[in-house]
Amino acid sequence: MVTARSHSHPRLRSMCPGPPARILPVQAARPAAETSRRFDRQLTIPGFGVSAQRRLSQATVLVAGAGGAGVGGVGGAAATYLAAAGVGRLILIHPGDLADPAVPGLIAEADIVVDARHNFPERYLINRLCVRAGVPLVVAAMNATEAYLMVVRPGEPCLRCVFPEGDPAWEPLGFPVLGAIAGTVGCLAATEALKVVGGFAEPAVGRLVHVDLWDVDLRTPRTRRDPACPDCGPGSTP
Ligand SMILES: [Zn+2]
Repeated sequence: MVTARSHSHPRLRSMCPGPPARILPVQAARPAAETSRRFDRQLTIPGFGVSAQRRLSQATVLVAGAGGAGVGGVGGAAATYLAAAGVGRLILIHPGDLADPAVPGLIAEADIVVDARHNFPERYLINRLCVRAGVPLVVAAMNATEAYLMVVRPGEPCLRCVFPEGDPAWEPLGFPVLGAIAGTVGCLAATEALKVVGGFAEPAVGRLVHVDLWDVDLRTPRTRRDPACPDCGPGSTP
């Protein structure tokens, strides 16, 4: 779990509206985590190894949208499995006022951002901040039994290139949710983030991953950059 027992280093930061951002203790990778028996099983994954584990232990991942109590929902599941894999530092923003002036700095601190916000205006803001900071972004979303996922790296199609207008049916929380689907999407998002910061396997860059678990239909169409994209195009404002 991400909120765990005391630790000498404040490795998890949670931002909530109203009170100042709180820094919570968290069980996390210790400096020698890559050699810990805790990770024995994943260390044997072909192409993973000690070098990937070391990169995870040194990484900072920001999760934008981590559920009411830090667990549950897409972001909560993602954060749980990022911590379980040995990510060294997690920054959780929830419910969060993304207009907080600290947010751009927190994003710039991160090696990757996982976006599980439940409305398009906030997703666009996270997308724009990541593009401007050159920070990779994992976009994860769900709707009933459907899951959507994409990995945005600098120079690749961004969220706004692929979804330029959002979906009014989303607001406020206008889409149906099955918790097991949200957890599945969160685990998929965590996997993509681990691949990027750990430097193993092939992240879903330049593709939109769409899974309908109603009949377990998986599609990964290619995405394309929009040359006029207001977030990543040449006309975007810094
Ligand atoms: Zn774009």
